[in-house]
Amino acid sequence: MTSLRRRVIGLGCAFVILGGALSAGGLWTFGGTIGIWGIIAFVAGMFMQEPDRFDPEEVASWRPSAAPMANAGRTMYRVDTTIDEPIHTTVLCGSCAHLAEMDGPRPATFTCPGCGLLLWEDEEE
Ligand SMILES: [Zn+2]
Repeated sequence: MTSLRRRVIGLGCAFVILGGALSAGGLWTFGGTIGIWGIIAFVAGMFMQEPDRFDPEEVASWRPSAAPMANAGRTMYRVDTTIDEPIHTTVLCGSCAHLAEMDGPRPATFTCPGCGLLLWEDEEE
């Protein structure tokens, strides 16, 4: 389910609840209108065509590591640095899918030990 569709359904639910609450509070006209719009949003969300729909099995079997990333004109990589101590950084090379781990924060430059590619180089250090 895409986030847009979920949002529309969530909005619809919220409007139905709000409409019901206002109706129960005696504001029939106002509450009823909101409630109807909520039902419309809810139904629209349920029947909404999902753009960029993925095969559920494909999504379930997807793993962030161990697969080379699409080359978008430059070498892709993924850097994850822990926020809490001990600081630990993992670098996933998008070219050869090598996962490098190191202690400390993201280094200024990094060359993939798997394929020898320079993944990044910070010019201001
Ligand atoms: Zn590599």
